[in-house]
Order: sequence, then C-alpha cells, then structure tokens
Amino acid sequence: MTGEKKYSVVRENLLEWYDENKREYPWRKTTSLFQILITEILLQKTIASNVNNLYDDFFKKYKDFTAINNANIKSLQLDIKSLGLSNKRSKILKSLSEMIISKFNGKIPEDPMVLKEINGIAEYVSNAYACFGLNHRTLFHDVNIKRIIERVFKIPINTKRNELINEQLYMLLPDDDSKHFYWALLDFGSNICAKKNPKCQICPISDYCHYFFTS
Ligand code: SF4
Repeated sequence: MTGEKKYSVVRENLLEWYDENKREYPWRKTTSLFQILITEILLQKTIASNVNNLYDDFFKKYKDFTAINNANIKSLQLDIKSLGLSNKRSKILKSLSEMIISKFNGKIPEDPMVLKEINGIAEYVSNAYACFGLNHRTLFHDVNIKRIIERVFKIPINTKRNELINEQLYMLLPDDDSKHFYWALLDFGSNICAKKNPKCQICPISDYCHYFFTS
C-alpha cells in the first residue's frame, strides 16, 4: 500500500471508529471560545474525566476572563484542586486573563500564537485552541496522540522525534475538520491504543500498524 493510501485508510478507519465510540464532553459541544481556551489549560496533565467533573461548576462561577482575573487566587486554586498542579494552573489562568483584559480588551487575540507569551502556555494549548475553537488545521500532540503515531508509523527515538511525529500527523489530518479527527485520536489513544495493554485484537487500524506486526 502506498504512503498516501495508508494515510487515507488509517484516517477513515479512525473516524469510523470514533463515530461509534466517541466520548461526550461539554467542551466538545460549546461554541464559547472562552470555555474552549480555558478548558485546554484545565486539561493539561490531567485526565479528561477530572475536568468533566468540575466543568459545569467552574464555568458557572467563572463566566469570563474578568471573573478569573478578579478571583482570589486561593479560591481559584481550591476550585481546580482536583485536577492537580493547582498552584501552577491558577497562575496561568490569572496571567492569561490579565493579559487578555489589559492588552486585548477582554477578547481572545485573533492570532492564537500570541497566547504563547504567557508563561506556562505552551505551543500545545495555542494550537489546540486554534484547532478546536477556530477550526484551524494545526499540529499538536499529547501523550495519547504521540503514542499512536509512534506505534503506527515507527518513529525512531532521537532528537527529531517531535518533528517526525508532526510530519506524520500533517499527512494524516483531513484537509478540513481536523477538530473531529483530533477528538478521534484522543479517544482512540485513551480507549484502544492505551499505554498498557493496547487492544490490538480489536483495533481497526492494526493492518497498518508497525507495532502490531513487530511486538
Ligand atoms: S494495532 Fe495496537 S498498537 Fe497499533 S494502533 Fe492498534 S491498538 Fe495501537
């Protein structure tokens, strides 16, 4: 099978699997750019179900950047304590809200890459926000996405690892609607291509997976 064909079959099979098995989360339904951006910060280094558990209460209390900016930091820390890293996370939320209010009049800047000025907001958050909020075809990978790409495409462990993962991701992403494809990868990495004991026997892309034939 040629490279191009492999990408399209893997893409289609993952999207089909996702149609049947998608996880429902409130941040996948909202059109609020504020909630989409803040959720990406909440989702860093924690599992989605933790964010799901506090999502409604959090956004009932913090309706906009002003609410976060005005919040007492201890109280904000308590509200997100269950996610872990609450000191660091609350500082990022405060700095982000302060910048958006003081420099952008309370509106998220049109160029999401400006967000990287905030200490603690890495490229992942800016690119994930651009994808999920603005429908941009951006490249980003968390541990789940990374693991799938590494296993399927046999990425060598060297200094160019991230670059090589992004190259494969670039080929794999659909031309439009990359948002749903990223959700498919995230759910697939969590449910099927798990870190321990991946469910290769029921995997819809095992025929195209390097790991499957070599492990
Ligand atoms: S065959 Fe196994 S390792 Fe390969 S993508 Fe599927 S679950 Fe992951």
